[in-house]
Amino acid sequence: MKKHNFSAGPCILPDSVMQKAAHAVQELDGSGLSLIEISHRSPAFIEIMDKACASALDLLGLTGKGYKALFLQGGASMQFLATAYNLLENKGAYLNTGTWATKAIKEAKLLGEVVEVGSSADANFNYIPKNIEVPADADYLHITTNNTIFGTQIKTLPESDAVLVSDSSSDIFSRQLDFSKFGIIYAGAQKNMGPAGTTLVIVKEDVLGKVTHKIPSMLDYSIHASKDSMFNTPPVFAVYTSMLTLEWLTNLGGISAIEEKNNAKAALMYGEIDRNPLFKGFAAMEDRSTMNATFTLEEASLKEKFDSMCADALINGINGHRSVGGYRASMYNALPQESVQVLVDVMKELERIA
Ligand SMILES: *Cc1c(COP(=O)(O)O)cnc(C)c1O
Repeated sequence: MKKHNFSAGPCILPDSVMQKAAHAVQELDGSGLSLIEISHRSPAFIEIMDKACASALDLLGLTGKGYKALFLQGGASMQFLATAYNLLENKGAYLNTGTWATKAIKEAKLLGEVVEVGSSADANFNYIPKNIEVPADADYLHITTNNTIFGTQIKTLPESDAVLVSDSSSDIFSRQLDFSKFGIIYAGAQKNMGPAGTTLVIVKEDVLGKVTHKIPSMLDYSIHASKDSMFNTPPVFAVYTSMLTLEWLTNLGGISAIEEKNNAKAALMYGEIDRNPLFKGFAAMEDRSTMNATFTLEEASLKEKFDSMCADALINGINGHRSVGGYRASMYNALPQESVQVLVDVMKELERIA
């Protein structure tokens, strides 16, 4: 029996994607060869890479606007360093909205001056700082559009003339934003796009080539762009599976169609968290993430009961991150609304019997 998979990452992927990906490992499109045993320079794989890049730009509305899509390795964590390497000359401005942003700041500090233009560390990152001021001489402003661990999400992009860089690992392709405002968007595949092993980097080509220091080849976006993500052997399975998910999303009607579904799921989830006296939301209401709903049980004595009811209902992956505690229901693109309904029904049942 397939479980209701609320895992924060790696996480749920569409069934059809999983089936096609599994099949391609055995044999890619009747070629007599497995996806993972062919050359990444074969026409078949080059087509896969091209399609994945084209779909990513199309979905974001960035085709023909001077952007390049790259599929790299090392996770979002590697991009913490790579973004700084590629952009940091004077100083980098960072909005500190949680664990991942803190890690990005730590890496950038290896290379140069970093200013925190806002932080919600004072309240265990349960909100998004607003009205931030970015120094005029900052090379870029780094934000985390969705804070996976704390369940907050930036709803309005900050106004600034600096190049906007974003870690969008956990909400890429989940909602419409004006993506042309970004200089760089990066996202580890394993939250909303594919298996772990590749990281999508969308880069506006004119933000590159402005630093005076040398950049190690594997971290240099210009090199990866000039080689169409084939500077070294790309993670073919992760790229292929990501391509399938992007195709699935395109066929569904793109980001605006999935955003409607995601909003409906989030409304159902938060509606119950707010209605049910046994539960309490963690994140500030106006900053609540549509992807990761964080909440706690008001009475610790009910935890065992709730956990066993969830297990009986085949609910997987709702334990909160250790830095928040409680619960976290991750509702990525591929999670059906029925799964949210199952969780909501269990919460209602707990109230009834408590
Ligand atoms: C999961 C996550 C990361 C870490 O991604 P890796 O690919 O494991 O390096 C970074 N940022 C955010 C927002 C995440 O959700």
